[in-house]
Amino acid sequence: MSVSDYYLSDDDATQEFGAALARAIGDSGAIVYLQGDLGAGKTTLSRGLIRALGHVGPVKSPTYTLVEPYENFDFPLYHFDLYRLSDPEEVEFLGVDDYFEPPALCLIEWPQRGQGYLPRADIEISLAAEGDGRRITWQAITPEGDRISDQLRRMMDASADKTGN
Ligand code: ADP
Ligand code: MG
Repeated sequence: MSVSDYYLSDDDATQEFGAALARAIGDSGAIVYLQGDLGAGKTTLSRGLIRALGHVGPVKSPTYTLVEPYENFDFPLYHFDLYRLSDPEEVEFLGVDDYFEPPALCLIEWPQRGQGYLPRADIEISLAAEGDGRRITWQAITPEGDRISDQLRRMMDASADKTGN
């Protein structure tokens, strides 16, 4: 399956990508893996998405609590940061099985730390530092992921046309 590839020149661009992802997903839910090193921009993207859904206030990585629920939207959103999991099995003790049911939207930072205990992703997104900005790539895994990915590409190409990039 094809990989989509774009450049995000600053923090705002990463947040706008998160907002575009929210629009692309709509209200049918999805499992989204967010890959990339510390500081790559996973939480920044999540912040843009969560704010686009109407959340006012800070969005921090739930580094110590592992998951932050947002249950005031039209559908529940769960933001995971599994960086501090010492064993993938620990996912079982979080009691989050319900969180993975549609129409929930799950954003999962550091999914590899929970490997074997997480549902498969609909779409896998990777961020990496490049120059002063970030390279973002993604790949659809499921048919739903394909739909989301097509929408995202359309939105990214339309905004690039507008700015002449
Ligand atoms: P992670 O969750 O991947 O560890 P964060 O989102 O917490 O990363 O932090 C990323 C840092 O990079 C923040 O300081 C943020 O402002 C910055 N950042 C995010 N996106 C970009 C970008 N496209 N270009 C430059 N800096 C960015
Ligand atoms: Mg983070």
